[in-house]
Amino acid sequence: MPQSFKTQSSITVCKLAVVYLTLNYHYMQLPREVIVGNGTLERVPEVAKRLGLKGKALILSDQNCYNVAGKVVSDFLTTSGLSVDFLLVKTMTSKDVADLQVKIKELKPQVLFGVGGGTIIDSAKVSSGNQNIPFISIPTTVSHDGIASPLASIKGSDKPYSILAQAPLAIIADTNVFAQGPWRFVISGCGDVIAKFTAVKDWKLAHKEVDEYYGGYAASLALMSAKIMIENADLIASKEEEGLRVLLEALISCGVAMSIAGSSRPCSGSEHLFSHALDLISPNHAMHGEQCGVGSILTAYLHKSNWQRIRNTLKEMGAPTTANELGVEDIEVVKALEMAPKLRPERYTILHKLNLNSEACEKTARATGVIA
Ligand SMILES: [Zn+2]
Repeated sequence: MPQSFKTQSSITVCKLAVVYLTLNYHYMQLPREVIVGNGTLERVPEVAKRLGLKGKALILSDQNCYNVAGKVVSDFLTTSGLSVDFLLVKTMTSKDVADLQVKIKELKPQVLFGVGGGTIIDSAKVSSGNQNIPFISIPTTVSHDGIASPLASIKGSDKPYSILAQAPLAIIADTNVFAQGPWRFVISGCGDVIAKFTAVKDWKLAHKEVDEYYGGYAASLALMSAKIMIENADLIASKEEEGLRVLLEALISCGVAMSIAGSSRPCSGSEHLFSHALDLISPNHAMHGEQCGVGSILTAYLHKSNWQRIRNTLKEMGAPTTANELGVEDIEVVKALEMAPKLRPERYTILHKLNLNSEACEKTARATGVIA
């Protein structure tokens, strides 16, 4: 397990990040078990046995996710001979993550289970990595690609984008649980996957123009996930369980692509920067994947790529493709597009290359129909 160090902010970041960035070798941290399907929560005891989990487990969840999945997980772990503590949280700011780490020090669990949506899973990643214990990802939503990735974003930290933490030891994803969630979560997940078209284009561009490392295998994996999602758009839109499974596997593959790359590069480019900027600009911002989907329409246009295909697929899902559907003002979209490259000057994308002024951003948003 990686050791941790303190940054200027109150959040500690895994030492793994330093290993990735400073040493002359490529380190990949991958999940050991991935179980996807209907009723997979019942597999918790056998996973615990295979992984040799003993002693004390801590479940991190919120009340709703605990009712949906956490209670079942807790019962299965107890019957497997583990003693279980749980921590039900309401918010997960950087302060909450720091408190969580104090709790882990007190309770001394051997393993942390993150049972919940993106915020819970990300907090489990960061806090378990810093406290040198493994974590197991039990997602309750398919709204984001953080289910399997080693990256995490924490509200209230000094970084509006994700930081490197640790990959889950195992992922147990139950489509039965996702089917109970709102359709909007599925839409957000689709947006996060479709975003890989522009993320990979940006990565290639950075390789060509600023000589950034480019991993063909990680890029292909991310791209393949987006292609499979588009090919199965009608299946996902039909709301059948098989469609959920396709989306879930695409999201997990994206997480693995990030593990292989050692960064979010294959999965996060200009469209993610647009989404992060919109988070800062608009108090009414939509879900992460919804914003990334619209961002991908805008930046695919700038890449002179097939932005219409991205827009049409999102429409087919019932996903937002305009500022109005995102619930934000037209001017906020323009401002976000202009601000996006400034959030991460080091992450070279088409927005850094073109350095668009406000007028050009507005023209882009208009040409793609994102603003009227
Ligand atoms: Zn994302």
